[in-house]
Amino acid sequence: MSAKVDERVYDEIEALEAILIEDLVVKHEDGVPKIIETVIHPSTADNIDQQFVCITLEVRLTPDYPDSSPEVFLRNPRGLDDQLLSIINTKIREMLNINLGNPVIFELIELVREFLTQSNLPSGQCVICLHGFTQGDVFIKTQCYHHFHSHCLSKHLIAGKKYYQEELDKLPNWQQVQAPAYQQTCPVCRCLVAFDVETLKKAPPPVDSLTAPPFHLTAELKALQQRMADLLARQVARGGVVGMGDDGPPPLTITTPSDNEEPKVSTSGTQDVKVEAAGGARPGSSTSSDGPASPASPNRASYKGPFRGFNRRGKPGRRGRGGR
Ligand SMILES: [Zn+2]
Ligand SMILES: [Zn+2]
Repeated sequence: MSAKVDERVYDEIEALEAILIEDLVVKHEDGVPKIIETVIHPSTADNIDQQFVCITLEVRLTPDYPDSSPEVFLRNPRGLDDQLLSIINTKIREMLNINLGNPVIFELIELVREFLTQSNLPSGQCVICLHGFTQGDVFIKTQCYHHFHSHCLSKHLIAGKKYYQEELDKLPNWQQVQAPAYQQTCPVCRCLVAFDVETLKKAPPPVDSLTAPPFHLTAELKALQQRMADLLARQVARGGVVGMGDDGPPPLTITTPSDNEEPKVSTSGTQDVKVEAAGGARPGSSTSSDGPASPASPNRASYKGPFRGFNRRGKPGRRGRGGR
């Protein structure tokens, strides 16, 4: 049986629940409170649009807490880089030492909140332009807590829609009709997002981009581009590239070296050889070459969905092998 929990723990949890209400999660083990968890945001007078960072604080109570320090973990940091995380971790250790013997969770929450309030500007880079976020930048936070300069995100979304349209135009009409509508996605995690591009477009370019030296495609960069193109070709030939699916987030598309071969004539005389996979086959569903041989095996694997062109950029317009 578990040891009796210190009364102070129940008092502390009761107080925390009164303050944080549904933002507090208390997990029990063997009927006693064990883990206390809360997502902490900076203090911005409840203006959620102005919260650019957040983190989950997890406190694991030791059996004799508060006479011994609890274990504290920071999870799911958003908008905070490793350097900031290391600073806050140090401050947490100090706080635990000072408060040894006393309930400390509320102090920890306040400590982290204060730190987030001071750091309420995303650290790290905008993944689109690779510049940081500085004073004067106009930037935006997605629902998934990823940050971009508004200017960069508008360019990204405009380019994404244009690319979608170009690929769509390559498809025959019947496939165009079936294709899912264009949907904006987060460039980092591919969560669906919805932004008004016209509003984003009005934002000025990132401050750092104004002083950055002009871009030149140097011989070194050209060599890098070539290396990356070779690498991609090798990945396609050997087994896997991440492509676009016919719905939802992009799945992993498995390709095999035999995808590059023309269909072989069947010697079995089976008419089924030329039968295509069902039209709705998902790209991920067509996989390995080492399954048992079947009459349809020369045709197996190829994805026939509306986004073929997305996966086969080297051969635009190429239709399924063995198709009609
Ligand atoms: Zn940017
Ligand atoms: Zn995201």
